[in-house]
Amino acid sequence: MAAKAPKYVYAFGGGTADGRAEMKNLLGGKGANLAEMSRLGIPVPPGFTITTEVCADFMKHKGAYPAALKAQVDKALAKVEKQMGRPFGDPANPLLFSVRSGARSSMPGMMETVLNIGLTSRTLPGLIAQFGDERFAYDAYRRLIMMYSDVVMEKAAGIEVERDQGIRMQLERILEEKKRARGVQLDTQLTAGDLKDLCERFKKRIQEVLNKEFPDDPQEQLWGGIAAVFHSWNGKRAVSYRKIEGIPGEWGTAVNVQAMVFGNMGEESATGVAFTRDPATGQRRFYGEFLINAQGEDVVAGIRTPQSINEIGKSDQTRHLSSLESAMPKLYKQLVGIYKKLEKHYRDMQDIEFTIERGTLWMLQTRVGKRTGTAAIRMAVEMASEGLISKPEALMRVKPEQLDELLHPMLDPAAEKAAVKLATGLPAGPGGATGKIAFTADEAESRAKTGEPVVLVRPETSPEDVHGMHAAAAILTSKGGMTSHAALVARGWGKCCIVGCGALDIDTANRRLTVNSRTLGPDDWISLNGARGVVYEGKLAMLEADPEKNEDYRKLMKWADQTRQLLVRANADTPEDAAQAVAFGAQGIGLTRTEHMFFAPDRIKAMREMIVAETEEARRKAVMKLLPYQKNDFVGILKAMGGRPVTIRLLDPPLHEFLPKEERLVEELAQELGVRPAALRARMEQLHELNPMLGHRGCRLGVSYPEITEMQVRAIFEATAELTRQGERVMPEVMVPLVGTLQELDNQVEIIHRVAQEVVQENALRRLPYTVGTMIEVPRAALTAGQIAQTAEFFSFGTNDLTQMTFGFSRDDIGGFLPYYLEQKILPDDPFQTIDRIGVGRLVELAVQEGRQTRPDLKIGICGEHGGDPDSVMFCHRAGLNYVSCSPFRVPIARLAAAQAAILWPRKAGKKPGKKAARKAEKKAAKKTAKKKAVKR
Ligand code: ADP
Ligand code: MG
Ligand code: MG
Repeated sequence: MAAKAPKYVYAFGGGTADGRAEMKNLLGGKGANLAEMSRLGIPVPPGFTITTEVCADFMKHKGAYPAALKAQVDKALAKVEKQMGRPFGDPANPLLFSVRSGARSSMPGMMETVLNIGLTSRTLPGLIAQFGDERFAYDAYRRLIMMYSDVVMEKAAGIEVERDQGIRMQLERILEEKKRARGVQLDTQLTAGDLKDLCERFKKRIQEVLNKEFPDDPQEQLWGGIAAVFHSWNGKRAVSYRKIEGIPGEWGTAVNVQAMVFGNMGEESATGVAFTRDPATGQRRFYGEFLINAQGEDVVAGIRTPQSINEIGKSDQTRHLSSLESAMPKLYKQLVGIYKKLEKHYRDMQDIEFTIERGTLWMLQTRVGKRTGTAAIRMAVEMASEGLISKPEALMRVKPEQLDELLHPMLDPAAEKAAVKLATGLPAGPGGATGKIAFTADEAESRAKTGEPVVLVRPETSPEDVHGMHAAAAILTSKGGMTSHAALVARGWGKCCIVGCGALDIDTANRRLTVNSRTLGPDDWISLNGARGVVYEGKLAMLEADPEKNEDYRKLMKWADQTRQLLVRANADTPEDAAQAVAFGAQGIGLTRTEHMFFAPDRIKAMREMIVAETEEARRKAVMKLLPYQKNDFVGILKAMGGRPVTIRLLDPPLHEFLPKEERLVEELAQELGVRPAALRARMEQLHELNPMLGHRGCRLGVSYPEITEMQVRAIFEATAELTRQGERVMPEVMVPLVGTLQELDNQVEIIHRVAQEVVQENALRRLPYTVGTMIEVPRAALTAGQIAQTAEFFSFGTNDLTQMTFGFSRDDIGGFLPYYLEQKILPDDPFQTIDRIGVGRLVELAVQEGRQTRPDLKIGICGEHGGDPDSVMFCHRAGLNYVSCSPFRVPIARLAAAQAAILWPRKAGKKPGKKAARKAEKKAAKKTAKKKAVKR
């Protein structure tokens, strides 16, 4: 027996189907769901789906189909003819088809659909006779001509045209002319004669422009449509959408050929779209729009104002129009029955399309509906409470990134619509903000102190501006990209920020900002939408962010905390940030950077004195001036964290970052410090490094200037002693940065323990609660983690530097080539945003394994930017880390991502290497969580 050809064509309709919902890969989302609806007994116009495999084949063989396809299509087509009681191409009673695209995951509006296939000069009279409506038939015909010429004859043929010169636009203009000539506004007001005349003109124009006749043969139209849908998979729009959404090009699209039903057959006909719950708020109410006497995309195209599907959905724009509920109550009731059935069946909010043909309801599509973050949370929690889904499913339903929406104040969208847009830049920091313009960091700080909200507007920012950046409500720069200093700092704080806004002409000296032909000064308000990168003139109304007020959010996060096995900490440098972190659910601080503390105007002088000091004695004297400040900082942070662990990193950046760059400022500083400008310049020359990222920084500073380490740890321990005496519980963890060898660490740890001992004695204490560990951020440290763990009581992966040094990419310079790397798929993602599992991840896994071999109870975390990236959080869970640490505003995101990781890859007890006791404890903990966790479906 000859091998049977694979099944390329799957029929649906009339209460049965060859396919089902699970077959999305083969049938595409639309086809699989049409099959499923048909099986559920929901009225679906019959048709068939040509599989995505055919698409792949079609691509591979440059437009040729598998040999067996034609026969399978003919057979399926005959079946539809029988079901509908009309033959395709029949002059007396013609069947028409729609040819619709449909990929695995929905790509709304990205690919093509052609309606009314099968209308020709021979079948037109039949269609008129069949429905007794000439106007309708010509309306259908002119739509076919418009869609077909555009999709099949132009786009699929690969004809490139200027934006406005496409055949569709040309035909649209002819249509507009016609309406004008007839003195009407709506398509529906054109008569049969008008439409007939239009069809003739359309065909003539097509012949002129495309040099081809509009096909007058049903089979030719059908196969032209099928090929065009396959081609549209590689159309420009579809390709760029796939890139953004990360959909692989190999997937391909299916083609659905479906009997036409007509919503444009008069007042008893309609077409519409609806959501089973409100996609904006998540509220459990049927929400949708429809149009009477319309077809296909009319509803979304905005040609006429669509009507609300029901009474409660009416808005000010639709108040005067009748709803489907009131106009066609019986059909509305039927639709309600169907939507409920669909939501129950799919166990998620559905986005549906329907058409009513002369009083008969047909469903054309159902899919899981897209939704805002707020809506996603509400739906997930409510569906779990309704018993529609389980708690773990509810947790999986919300994308961690979607929480972001709730965590920042936003510009009021209504105010935004009415406002004057000044410029657009890169959306670098979340949320919205409004304030008066401040032109320098100092100005921003002093004005903010008086309670005035300001937006810091700079060409770009540097570490010297940090105090002003912190004080400002938002930051706006004309230069720089998404990884510029301003962007990095703002994201870390969750502060609204727009960078690279090239249209700004900033005159700092005269405190003037010129943009969009307007000139603004320090008393003028501007407003920023950091999520979209838009700058507006004036003071726009804001919507406050307070996620804890959102009951659904609170519930979801509670479930997340019960489920996750990874702790979540925050990176915070100030008591305010620490308090914010706790409010967002942080269980400790994973990284306190001490260098930011030196930039404040009251201490930078002492810092600079220390740096320019020539002798150890002078240096020690200067550095000790910083002690009271540092101690204060640590008292504040340790107190704010109330007994939760706080990892404090010793000084990390190269010293020259603390010195001014402008010549004018150097003169000033020399005067201030009482040194000769020439001597200061010489010292700066000395500090200058060709490659500061690999230079004199991190623990290398502490090794060469032990007095810096001594001062810092003294500040930490004196703060600890003071708080302990006051009865506060505190848990500092001293972290040595940039260690590459055990000897470097030992050198610093000797100082740390010695100073601790001194503080213990000075304060007549028995002991101080603290631990000492290191960052693992130099590849050598990861490779020798087993040795380093002999001294280190904890590891914290500094994945920014670790990525930098593993790839040999400077994170400050990656902008020059990263776009090419991403475009050419040399890298899948920016490795500074999503951890490189294969390379950097391997170092992490190795260090975890060897570190724990030496020290089974080694506490391990991550404190790089990756700590707040959901994918990277999942990686950290799987690598066996104890915690992740991220910016306070990303803490909830990390909590949810950690819960999802625990659902997807539950940690099994006894899997991790460790002492017997540790293993036992973990078993117990795992049992507890397993018990708590709802049963997985
Ligand atoms: P998209 O994927 O862009 O939503 P569709 O394939 O859903 O495209 O087609 C767009 C619109 O065309 C549908 O919303 C529907 O209104 C109309 N349409 C598609 N097939 C039919 C059909 N068989 N009968 C009537 N209208 C149809
Ligand atoms: Mg659709
Ligand atoms: Mg580092």
